[in-house]
Amino acid sequence: MEYRCSACHTAFGAESPPHACPKCGAEAGLEPHHPVPMPMRAFGLLVGGVLVASAVGGVLGMFAGS
Ligand SMILES: [Zn+2]
Repeated sequence: MEYRCSACHTAFGAESPPHACPKCGAEAGLEPHHPVPMPMRAFGLLVGGVLVASAVGGVLGMFAGS
């Protein structure tokens, strides 16, 4: 399991939820970190953009048709 410190943005592995960041010692803001591969992120952005575009196009089409 990987965790990431939101204070210094250091990613580190730990078996159990860590008590403090090993680098800066912050005890809060340690969150489980799931690295997302860049192609998947780009694909998500693409799908999101297409969905938004089609929704906007549908709304505009409704106004244009009425
Ligand atoms: Zn830290």
